[in-house]
Amino acid sequence: MAESVCSGMSNKVAKLSFWGVRGSTPTVDRATWRYGGNTPCLELVAPDGTQFILDCGTGLRVLGKRWAEIHGTNSIEAHIFVTHYHWDHIQGIPFFSPLYAGQNRFHFYSFRSEFLGRDSLKQVFEAQMAHPYFPVDLSAMSAARQFSEVTDRDQFEINGTRITARMLNHPQGCFGFRFETSAGTIVYATDNEPGVPKLDQSLRELAADADIFINDAQYTPEQLTTTRKGWGHSSWLAGVKVAQEAGVRNLVLFHHDPDSSDKIVDGVLHDARQKFENVWAASEGMVMSLGEERVEVIMPTTRGGLRQEGHFRARVTGYTEEGRAFQEETVLRDLTLQGALIYLNHSPRLQSELQVTMESPGDEGQNHNHLRFRGYVVRLEPGPEKDQTAVGIVFTE
Ligand SMILES: [Zn+2]
Ligand SMILES: [Zn+2]
Repeated sequence: MAESVCSGMSNKVAKLSFWGVRGSTPTVDRATWRYGGNTPCLELVAPDGTQFILDCGTGLRVLGKRWAEIHGTNSIEAHIFVTHYHWDHIQGIPFFSPLYAGQNRFHFYSFRSEFLGRDSLKQVFEAQMAHPYFPVDLSAMSAARQFSEVTDRDQFEINGTRITARMLNHPQGCFGFRFETSAGTIVYATDNEPGVPKLDQSLRELAADADIFINDAQYTPEQLTTTRKGWGHSSWLAGVKVAQEAGVRNLVLFHHDPDSSDKIVDGVLHDARQKFENVWAASEGMVMSLGEERVEVIMPTTRGGLRQEGHFRARVTGYTEEGRAFQEETVLRDLTLQGALIYLNHSPRLQSELQVTMESPGDEGQNHNHLRFRGYVVRLEPGPEKDQTAVGIVFTE
């Protein structure tokens, strides 16, 4: 169960923010909006304020934008851990705006690839920005950059946070990283396929007693034993097994398949929760605060919908945190709407604007509330009756 943490302990808290959670390639498909389409990028702020970035997928661009808003022209220093060189983990680098500001300083950590040799990550930078792949020359990246090579089982300390690296089972290699902060331990192990006993044991050691264990959950348990065997990824079930064996407190399912819609990820999370209580599906914008061995999770507000205040009577059924079923009468105070289907005698123009006013039944004694929306026509089809048009609308404001 999620244990809540009270405010007022900010100096003892490690804060983990998810800027990209999608595996393999970014998705812009509407059906993936809720969990998010950016590829891996996590931000970890240690209790002393030291900034860590885990992986440089497309989520890194969004983090860079956020930092530019917060820091302005003040200097930024961060330690950036790159697990491996597959596209989805490096794609954000050329689009990370703080790299183009001379006052900033970045320390990069990664391994020597057998395909690239010495200064592997430096070579990745040069290759990514070489002509004709990118319009801006590497010399425009004016931030100070320092590259450190990490090898399997290395342990070192950065401003009081102890870091351990372990090689995982993934084509061309991938590192898992353990961060032991004064507020608790976070283990980041994406892109890993179980099944090699020695590496499975190494992962259990890396994850031992972690407060937060982020694990690859790209495929279903069925895919992992059949069509996706040998592709270098894991399943929620394999992650649950490691979490149980390693005594992990919170498991985060990560690196969602680009073909997994939000509904599919919901199903994966549901299945995982039958076997392990404290499991979360990584979601873009999710923030986990870790302090005094407790974890507080904040989910992002829904994107893409339009929030409107209203007053609708409703019956709600669900499950409590303890797993008991409940049913209760209540009132919906606001609604988030994405769109609607309406039948009209008129035929509006495709991609034109429509104004829609709805009446919501008010509480006793209150006047009826009106909900006003502006929408765009996205679909036109013949309606159920002659001379009628079925109009699909997306609400915009
Ligand atoms: Zn990946
Ligand atoms: Zn990979």
